[in-house]
Amino acid sequence: MLCTGRPKQTVRLVALDMDGTITQHRTPLEPQNRAVLDALSERFHLVIVGAGACRRIHGQLGGYPIDVIGNYGMEAGEYDRGRGELVIVESQKVTVEPREAVIERAAKLRREFGMETFAGEGVEFHASGMITFPLLGTKADIADKLAFDPDRSRRRPLYPVVKAAFSQYTVFIGGSSSFDIVPKPFDKLYALERYCARRGFAREEVLFFGDDYLEGGNDQQVYESGFAFAPVDDYRAFPDRVREVLL
Ligand SMILES: [Mg+2]
Repeated sequence: MLCTGRPKQTVRLVALDMDGTITQHRTPLEPQNRAVLDALSERFHLVIVGAGACRRIHGQLGGYPIDVIGNYGMEAGEYDRGRGELVIVESQKVTVEPREAVIERAAKLRREFGMETFAGEGVEFHASGMITFPLLGTKADIADKLAFDPDRSRRRPLYPVVKAAFSQYTVFIGGSSSFDIVPKPFDKLYALERYCARRGFAREEVLFFGDDYLEGGNDQQVYESGFAFAPVDDYRAFPDRVREVLL
């Protein structure tokens, strides 16, 4: 649902994607957007709803005092002001199937895509049960990864195929050259709903800022839900978007 200005009066919780919304991808929070978070935190409760691990997100935000939902809701951290640190309050571990089955399926997709050359491992397994399918491999050069598919035009046609192959998971076009494969029912919408239930926020009291709301994007489920959604198409425009819809 698009944000139409309605929320101003009712918003109590501002939920934010990080990469591409308030920061450049994998890049520290800049002073301009940090100041916006400071202003927002005087009036609203804030939470980051991210795709990466809580500690990585918190580190990228320079230890900013804010709650963090990580790994599409498989992990949750709450900021403890007394201790001045993020405390991990929830950490899920889900096993869907043996690793061999995943490796075999990924190899089959590579043959289909003509992408059988890669550096390092062809699949990355995370402790939570999340899987990364890096098309260039786990050890690919960062410059190669960034140059591979900046506008996603190479992964978009592959997305339905990967999604169908991993039907027991939710699949996202993630990072610069990979797919994120997440055990069901975890996604940002499920994460946000659970956070609201735990912390006592009603749906109409929430406004979400995100950049990745199209097909396969990791904010898509929230965008298509009943939550008010403020699209941010460039993290440098975040201050303006906040002024337009909230301040
Ligand atoms: Mg994003």
